[in-house]
Amino acid sequence: NQLEEPQEGIIISRFGMHADVEAQDGIIHRCNIRRTIKSLVTGDRVVWRAGKETQAGISGIVEAVHPRESVLTRPDFYDGVKPIAANIDQVVIVSAILPELSLNIIDRYLVACETLEVAPLIVLNKIDLLDDERRAFVDKLMDIYRALHYPVIMLSSHTQQGMETLEHALTDRISIFAGQSGVGKSSLLNALLYPDAAKILVNDVSDVSGLGQHTTTAARLYHFPHGGHVIDSPGVREFGLWHLEPEQVTQGFIDFRPYLGNCKFRDCRHDNDPGCALRAAVERGDIAEERFDNYHRILESMAQVKTRKTFSD
Ligand code: GDP
Ligand code: ZN
Repeated sequence: NQLEEPQEGIIISRFGMHADVEAQDGIIHRCNIRRTIKSLVTGDRVVWRAGKETQAGISGIVEAVHPRESVLTRPDFYDGVKPIAANIDQVVIVSAILPELSLNIIDRYLVACETLEVAPLIVLNKIDLLDDERRAFVDKLMDIYRALHYPVIMLSSHTQQGMETLEHALTDRISIFAGQSGVGKSSLLNALLYPDAAKILVNDVSDVSGLGQHTTTAARLYHFPHGGHVIDSPGVREFGLWHLEPEQVTQGFIDFRPYLGNCKFRDCRHDNDPGCALRAAVERGDIAEERFDNYHRILESMAQVKTRKTFSD
């Protein structure tokens, strides 16, 4: 099989021994993968060569992978962790008024983003459900995050309010959308990826795009018509606090960093320990109480998961 000159591409999706590679002209080629390549996932930037299409629809081969700028992993029974997506620039933390507005969950995702060293964007969906007074209250709560220089967008995928701001924040980068079930990730992605379809079918757009329940498990890269890209799959959406150490959780609260090391005792648990510099900062109002409470709740829930695991072993 005659191969053309090597060229650059990006992995749109990976399935078993094959991968869909998008060339710089936007055309997608289903490719074989060189055996020397240890790991290849959606978002990987690669060198590949086009060839004559085989009967099985294969029209190229991936020859090499560029170093990754970031990698999203999930726990794996055999390998400990397994990469699921590469080169993500931004995690869109989707939260909503309904089922519940949980700052605890937002904080969990922020810790995960800090550990991964990927920029977070907090999106608060369904603001159409709030009257003016409640909206002002929620807006004030979000100041906790704005004060830490985390961007916050309050919007409604139903009324489209705030959607342009989100579109703008998605350009020029690869994002993933994460968050609890029911917050509106599918609704947002459908509205962003298929804006015209969303206008026609306000209530049931999931079937138009296949982004609904019928999604395959492989992560896939999609392009936004207004610019920017998203990698999506059920596994990607659930990305969270997997396999984090308590020390990483502490470091993941960026507002704690200036005070770490200032506690009276080196093994301070930042709880009711005497001389805790973190608690002192909370009492002075330099650290938000909500953040401090969520920190302890996250550590507690991690300890519980560990215990459960030990029992079942
Ligand atoms: P996902 O599980 O995060 O993908 O959430 P879905 O996109 O499936 O949305 C869950 C529910 O929230 C659906 O019933 C949506 O119609 C509803 N929903 C999504 N966006 C909005 C919004 O902006 N306002 C309101 N009121 N409901 C919304
Ligand atoms: Zn302390």
